[in-house]
Order: sequence, then C-alpha cells, then structure tokens
Amino acid sequence: MTTLIWFRLDLRLHDHELVEQALALGQGLIPVYCFDPRQFGHTGFGFASTGSHRARFLWQSVADLRRSLRSLGSDLVVRQGHPETIIPDLVSHLGVTRVMWHCQPSPADQAIEVALSQGLAALGVPTLTAWADTLYHRDQLPFRLTELPELFTPFRQAVERHSSILPPRPSPGRLPPLPPVTPGDLPSLADLGLSPPAADRRAVLTFEGGEQAALARLQDYIWRTDSLRTYKLTRNRMVGANYSSKFSPWLALGCLSPRQVYASISQYETERVSNESTYWLVFELLWRDYFHFMLAKHGDRLFSVSGLRCLDIAWSQHWPDFEAWRSGLTGFPLIDANMRELAATGFMSNRGRQNVASFLTKNLGLDWRLGAQWFESLLIDYDASSNYGNWNYAAGIGNDGRGFRYFNLLKQAQDYDATGNYVKLWLPELRSLPASQVHQPWRLSAAQQRDFGVNLGVDYPLPMVDLEASASKNKAIYTLAEGSSKNSEPRPLRSQP
Ligand SMILES: Cc1cc2nc3c(=O)[nH]c(=O)nc-3n(C[C@H](O)[C@H](O)[C@H](O)COP(=O)(O)OP(=O)(O)OC[C@H]3O[C@@H](n4cnc5c(N)ncnc54)[C@H](O)[C@@H]3O)c2cc1C
Repeated sequence: MTTLIWFRLDLRLHDHELVEQALALGQGLIPVYCFDPRQFGHTGFGFASTGSHRARFLWQSVADLRRSLRSLGSDLVVRQGHPETIIPDLVSHLGVTRVMWHCQPSPADQAIEVALSQGLAALGVPTLTAWADTLYHRDQLPFRLTELPELFTPFRQAVERHSSILPPRPSPGRLPPLPPVTPGDLPSLADLGLSPPAADRRAVLTFEGGEQAALARLQDYIWRTDSLRTYKLTRNRMVGANYSSKFSPWLALGCLSPRQVYASISQYETERVSNESTYWLVFELLWRDYFHFMLAKHGDRLFSVSGLRCLDIAWSQHWPDFEAWRSGLTGFPLIDANMRELAATGFMSNRGRQNVASFLTKNLGLDWRLGAQWFESLLIDYDASSNYGNWNYAAGIGNDGRGFRYFNLLKQAQDYDATGNYVKLWLPELRSLPASQVHQPWRLSAAQQRDFGVNLGVDYPLPMVDLEASASKNKAIYTLAEGSSKNSEPRPLRSQP
C-alpha cells in the first residue's frame, strides 16, 4: 500500500493535511514534484510566464523540500514534464495504490487535475484531494462557494462571525523511505530556459525560497524585530525589510501556511501585545482568502478583459506607452522607481502596486491585462488570484462597484515618500534633486537643471501624459462603457490575447 503525494503550491511539511493523512494510513509514501513546462511558457502578450527571480525562488523551495524530506528518511521524486503524464507513469511502475494532491482554484490547474484524475481512474487508482492555502478552510465557510459574497466586507464579516481558523497541523517526525526509484535531479534555470537573476543590493530583502527560510522570516518579522507591533503604521512604506511582512512569496508557493502565520500572531497577542497592527495582518490575509475564493467561484471571468463586472471598456494597447511604463520611463518618478524596483528584484510594495496599476489603467488607458501579465511574469510572489483580483479592482472592473477611482500621484508621492528617499534609491539620475522637487522634476527651470546636473528629456524623460487631462479622458471612456453595460447580461468569455 503506497501513497503518492503530488506537491504543487504546498511546498512545506508543516500544516500539510495530506502528509498527515498519508501517514495515518500507515502506508508507504512517494512525494513527487513536477517542473511543468507550461509554467515556463509565455503569457498571452508574450512575456515569460515565470521570470528568473520567481524561477530561482521556486527552485530553492523545491530543493529545500527535498532536503527536509531527506532529513526525515524520505526523498522527493523530481521530474520535468506534464504531471498528468508523469504521475500515472510512476503509479504503474511503483505499484502506487492512492494519489493525493491539494487542489487549486484556477481553471488551468483544474484542467490538469481533471486530466490526471482520468488517467488514474483508467488505472483503477483512487485519488484524494484537499483544499489548502487559505486561512479559512473552504469546507468551513459559512456559505456555499456559489453564494460567496461578491464584496470583501460582507465576506470578511461572515467568516469572522460564523467560522473559525483551524490550528496548523504539526510537521511529521519521521517518514517511510522511498521504494526503489530514481529521485531525479532538479533542472537548472538554464534547463528551464532562464538565466540566474543578478543580485541588487537595493532590494528590500534577499528572498530565499523554501519552508526553512519562510519559518525564519516569520520568526524574524514577528518575534526578533518585533515589527508586528507597528505593522499598521508602517505597511505603506516602500524602503526597508520590515515595513511589511514580506511573507507573500512564501505564501504563494505554500512554503508558509497562512494558518501558521495566524497561530504565530495569536501567540504574539497573548505573549506581547494585541493591537490594531496585530489584527491588521490577519485582515490583509483575509484579502488573500477573498481573492482565492473569488477565483474558485468565478474562474476564467477573473482573467477576461471585461473582468468580474463584464465592462466593455475600449482599452488601448499602444505598445510604446506600455514600454515606457514597464521600463520605468514615464517621467513620473514614483511610477518609474517602482517599475524599476520590480524589474531589478521581482518585488514591489503594495503601495507601489496600487499606484502603478492606477497609472496604467486610469492615466494611460492601457489594457489592464498588459499590466497583470507583466506582473505575472516578474513578481516573485505571483499568485493568480491575488494578482488578477487586485488588477480587476485597480482597473475598475472588479466587483467592488466603486467606479472610476484613481490615485492622485503627486499626493501619493507626498504622503508616502516626502523625503524622496525611495525614488532617489531607484532613479540615480534624480539623486541631486531636493526632496521638494524630486517628484516633479518637470518643474525645474533650465538654470535649476544646470545647478543640479540634470538635463530633462535627456537624463530623465519629461512626463508622458498630463495627469488630470489623461484621467478625464479615460474617465469618459469608462463612463461610456458603464452606461452601455447597464442592462446587458454577462456575455460568454473572450479568450486571452
Ligand atoms: C496590482 C496588484 C497586484 C498584486 N499581485 C499580487 C500577487 O501576485 N501576489 C500576492 O501575494 N499579492 C499581490 N498583491 C497584493 C499585495 O500587494 C502583496 O500581497 C503585498 O504587497 C506583499 O507584501 P507583504 O507580504 O509584505 O504584505 P503584507 O502587507 O505584510 O501583508 C501580509 C499578507 O497579506 C496578503 N495581502 C496583503 N495585501 C493583499 C492584497 N491587496 N491582496 C491579496 N493579498 C494581500 C499577502 O499574502 C501578504 O503577504 C497585488 C496588489 C496589487 C495592487
């Protein structure tokens, strides 16, 4: 009797329901990970689906899982290819009697699960799947998934009032050895068609993939530096390792269980302090839950150009505008600094993400999927539901119904980077400018440009749009789409470009 566990976005041993279940059955265990070539293909607009920062993080996470499994007497079988082909093959050769995996909400992942289930059914091998990855377990929701509240606040209130968060399951102490099978080597980044990313000393953190690094970061952020105490006050900053938790990359690959984070927060509240900040980290994790359940409920709708609201907006796909945005050459320092940080490190703060997404959709009027797919390619913490859910919101096609809301860029710059330290970190060409002028370099006179050694239009671009005029123009386009969609029924989905 042997169980095969297919590891996916659950690259950990703590709080792992299926490992616990397999061990309870007292059977042999074969942990498997597949590097699926579809993960390393291209998005609809032709960007690498997984950029080098995330690929390295994934590689480190799989290597760490293998180390942990080996230290407990087992190993990780690693293969490159389609799981729906590889797993039935392993099952036939190794006499596997049951296959388990954590299911994923995205339609693409579900299609793979269906193909795998069919292959295993043909072999007469039973499967067992479970839900992982959210704070509130899907099976503990106080409503059916089809009745999930469309808005965040009713969702949050319902789960907070009528559900509870399960405690994390303990890590196993010992594992059965693998049957005779070649474990297989991890493919190198070059095998995956990528080059190792260059290190950048300006990065907020050196993100190291894997469960061990995740648990160390949890310890460091909450306990050693005591940063949780002030999270709500600092979370919107953009410079430094501890202004926010930086848990997202580990959560995205399942190296860290959200319930483990919750357990640590609860312990901290008992032993040190319980305040608005400690609650707020849980509140943010609820946003993550909300988007995961939204994807499970709405499927492909989240990725469609008209979004959850089915709004037919006449988006532009003007490539030179997009090129300026993604290269950090728009002429707006707050946007450019954030886009350059993303390209150099694979990370961007939440404040940055909100602003660059607002600028792309509300000032440039560009198809939001260009931005979402660029994020998908580059983000080290890319997570389909959080990324596309947040982009739906930013583009005004999410189900929050708040219409055409956009960020006042200059106010944001004042509120969150009054010293100019953030933009100067990422835009060396503006370093000599005083804080009062660094967010609006276009106001410098010719004499000031000479004094500060900056030649605008040469060293740094002039603004590519007028902020107010561009927002007004795009608001008119948005309002038109809203008007014409008022009485229309949701239409069939369009395919991605
Ligand atoms: C346009 C856009 C795209 C985004 N894409 C992603 C993505 O691909 N993956 C991703 O994990 N987050 C995404 N976010 C959400 C958020 O920006 C990141 O989770 C956060 O910046 C990660 O840093 P942190 O771990 O320090 O966050 P913290 O502030 O410490 O928050 C703790 C955790 O709460 C969750 N969280 C916080 N804010 C959000 C949010 N708005 N939506 C969903 N979960 C949230 C994350 O898991 C995060 O790790 C996106 C936001 C925007 C505006």
